[in-house]
Amino acid sequence: MSVVVRRTNTFAVRPLSTQDEQLLRDLLDASASLWNELNYERRQNFFDGESVWETADYRKQYVGVLGSATAQQVIRKNSEAWRSFFAAREDGEDTAPPGYWGNEEDGRELRTYIRNDQHTLETGGRSRLEISVGQDLKDEYGFSYHDRLRLEVAGDPKWEGEQGRLELYSDDVDDTFRAIQPVTVPDSRRDSPLAEESAALDIGANNLVACTTTTGQQYLYEGRDLFARFRETTKEIARLQSKLREGRYSSRRIRRLYRRRTRRRDHAQDTLVRDLVERLYDEGVATVYVGDLTDVLSEHWSARVNEKTHQFWAYRSFIDRLATTAEEYGITVEVESEAYTTAECPVCGERDDTERDSDVFQCSCGYEGHADLDASRTFLERQAGKEVRSMARPVRLKWDDHNWSELSRSPERASPNEERTNRSTGDGKLASVDTA
Ligand SMILES: [Zn+2]
Repeated sequence: MSVVVRRTNTFAVRPLSTQDEQLLRDLLDASASLWNELNYERRQNFFDGESVWETADYRKQYVGVLGSATAQQVIRKNSEAWRSFFAAREDGEDTAPPGYWGNEEDGRELRTYIRNDQHTLETGGRSRLEISVGQDLKDEYGFSYHDRLRLEVAGDPKWEGEQGRLELYSDDVDDTFRAIQPVTVPDSRRDSPLAEESAALDIGANNLVACTTTTGQQYLYEGRDLFARFRETTKEIARLQSKLREGRYSSRRIRRLYRRRTRRRDHAQDTLVRDLVERLYDEGVATVYVGDLTDVLSEHWSARVNEKTHQFWAYRSFIDRLATTAEEYGITVEVESEAYTTAECPVCGERDDTERDSDVFQCSCGYEGHADLDASRTFLERQAGKEVRSMARPVRLKWDDHNWSELSRSPERASPNEERTNRSTGDGKLASVDTA
């Protein structure tokens, strides 16, 4: 049996002139317009109880701008979204029908999909991307019949393999264009003999993700700054809402703030998931355990923290992203109950006489450690059914608006590097602190 694995390469894309940039924007805007028109008709049909598959011929309407192949790709992408919507409903999930790519008033989300025979991507010395555009756009911008739009590409492909449909979009947060290229890789790259380790995640707001692996690695993605900005925007939204005239509930500016807030969060979340999954892949992790939301909401979390985590993370979308990305790397995600892990002492197993103050966990046995990292370790040990020994110093990561980068490993307030005593010996009083 031959197994193939899907991977993605991401590139920054730069138009070579302002005219080319305008052409690219027109192409992406027309794609969003096609998506929205088609989606509007399908939503109308859906709410009227009619078939969403019977619509006007949008390929015909957009062939001039987009070209036949790209118009078809956008239509196909929309059909896929509707099919997964119906599949989710059949599974009893309460999901909303596919949404729009922005709107005309506030700005559309600029994005399109280019079939693999409609573009060429050369990387290396002269990195460039050439894509087909519709005849109307060629005429408007003075391209000849055989011309294609040439774009400069930055970044090296991480994966080699058979190339799939290219996604091209405008990244508002970074003010740049990006291309996402799915690649099908033969299975030999995945089948690392090491891939039998596991990892567990503790999800929070101050620390977005704390992770422990059975190889003894720990990762901590700090969320304080990110959350502070999220909250600032939320405050500004509330301020603007309080100033609305009576009878009005929103404004263009409020909607824009909402969108920006969501996009920033999604961007950080996407990048976090990819960074983490790549690290886990390198560690030979085959299974990742994530706590069940119901536990997160009930255990050891004040109402305010709940709200904060829930709203900021949009927990479900995080799990979806994690599962999708992990799948690309052949890693399985399992959602499991993590009841009590945040309250349980990793040394003596005490649950009642423990305290956490911000990041610091303290137990009456004298143990003190990093609350979230310890929780992920306890959760992992419970799921993997074995103790995790000899922890490396945790890797701490901070978001700088583009990347998660490692902080220098300075001494910490609460060092999670305590040497562990074996719980099964029953003597929990020997927690010595490794200050190396
Ligand atoms: Zn203890």
